[in-house]
Amino acid sequence: MEPFRLVAPSVYAAREPKLSVNVGLVVGQERALLVDTGSGPATAEALWAELREITELPVVVVNTHAHFDHIYGNARLAALGVEEFWAHPRLPHAAEASHASQRKAAQAVDPSMAEGLPYAELHLPNRLLSPVEGADGAVTPVEIDLGGLTAALFHLGRGHSDSDLLVGAGGVLFAGDLVEQGGDPHFEDSFPDEWVRVLGKITALEELYSVVVPGHGAPVDMSHVKLQRATMRQALKITRSAMNEATTDLTKAVPILPYGPAQSRALLRRLRELSSQGRQPGR
Ligand SMILES: [Zn+2]
Repeated sequence: MEPFRLVAPSVYAAREPKLSVNVGLVVGQERALLVDTGSGPATAEALWAELREITELPVVVVNTHAHFDHIYGNARLAALGVEEFWAHPRLPHAAEASHASQRKAAQAVDPSMAEGLPYAELHLPNRLLSPVEGADGAVTPVEIDLGGLTAALFHLGRGHSDSDLLVGAGGVLFAGDLVEQGGDPHFEDSFPDEWVRVLGKITALEELYSVVVPGHGAPVDMSHVKLQRATMRQALKITRSAMNEATTDLTKAVPILPYGPAQSRALLRRLRELSSQGRQPGR
């Protein structure tokens, strides 16, 4: 774990170098808020040591989504005294449903996540945002008072996953994997058309947030988010026309997509999956 670096007054980010995952830290006068917990107990322990270099205050955790590199440090942190873990109400189901395969992926990054080892378990968030009745997946935003500084937790729709949560504090937006820097967006569990809309909503928050900390890579500004949105729109357009041509071999679209082969294939696979579930491939 790299040390926490200041990205704005009282707001920090630290990087886990193997996956370049960002962990966020917002320090108020009474509490600190940690955004995401890494791929396993050893990562969590290392990030806790870095956190304690910055603050001795009690810590509250937010998980941006259910992927292993953002939640599998929870159990170790709970043992270190963290009591509140916040998340979107869909996160527990998503995390439980994918635990077996996610554990394998986690172990490759953090071997302390091997089954049977201490704290190598799924520790689910215990503070879930409240669903808005009748609105699919929408939740009521929450403001966490850290003492002299407030962190806003909110959901802008499905995108990278069905349970993406954003955290805004002190002019900084922690976007989870909705925004990526230095690598392609990951489409495996995504809702690509909705993701484009969510990115549009993020850019509309430009006046509030001048710095965006992506799930992976270096902090960016809103021009990066705009570019990511334009690229994704273009990718969907290309894929949609390939799908409309009803070619059986969609992989022919891979070389003309604006992503590397792995994520181009993941995008095609995901759009096919969603369209076979009766959803439109794109609008
Ligand atoms: Zn992710």
